[in-house]
Amino acid sequence: MSLQDNIHVLTREHLSQDKHGNLRTIPALLAELRLAVTPGRNSSGGGGAEGAPIPIDPNALDMLGNIENEARKDYAEATGTVWQGDLEALLQTYPHGQISAEWETYLARVTLGWVDTITAYLWPVKPRRKLTGKACPACSQSLYGEERKVALSLGCWDDDGNLAKIGDWDIACAGCGAEWSGDQVSWLLKALDTPDAAVAEVLEVG
Ligand SMILES: [Zn+2]
Repeated sequence: MSLQDNIHVLTREHLSQDKHGNLRTIPALLAELRLAVTPGRNSSGGGGAEGAPIPIDPNALDMLGNIENEARKDYAEATGTVWQGDLEALLQTYPHGQISAEWETYLARVTLGWVDTITAYLWPVKPRRKLTGKACPACSQSLYGEERKVALSLGCWDDDGNLAKIGDWDIACAGCGAEWSGDQVSWLLKALDTPDAAVAEVLEVG
């Protein structure tokens, strides 16, 4: 993504496509990170005793602090002036500013790092479920490579980390690259003697 694209997702509400092609509205990443710094602040449930400190998520606070420091330092070096306003406004000046192509390339890399870091922190991706001891129907390996890793894995989480509908699951073989999706998943699980009800049960518990 370009510097302009990165700044857009960091500072503006934007559309994002999930793996099923559905468009979702994602809030500005920096705004979401700020909300994550004080998790219980807007909820009516936890805490609330008079004078009780607002709980702080120290990791989110550190991340925000590091981004802010780096943004201000880079801005001062790239433009020769010190930015007095807030972080979002600073970033939004870049597409219209007088920075060199070298700085633009550098800042595109830095801001992409922020996008990736914030996204991974706010929406951690759950690992695929390993189908241990099951042989791939395409290449017949259950383990592959020198490290003898499990070949077949099941993707069963939606973008929010919840169990997806079985029609949205997929199975992939890391040994040969074969993939199955949609209705194929259900019959393949049966063929592998892994009934989907049992898999779902394990997943809910695990
Ligand atoms: Zn295979």
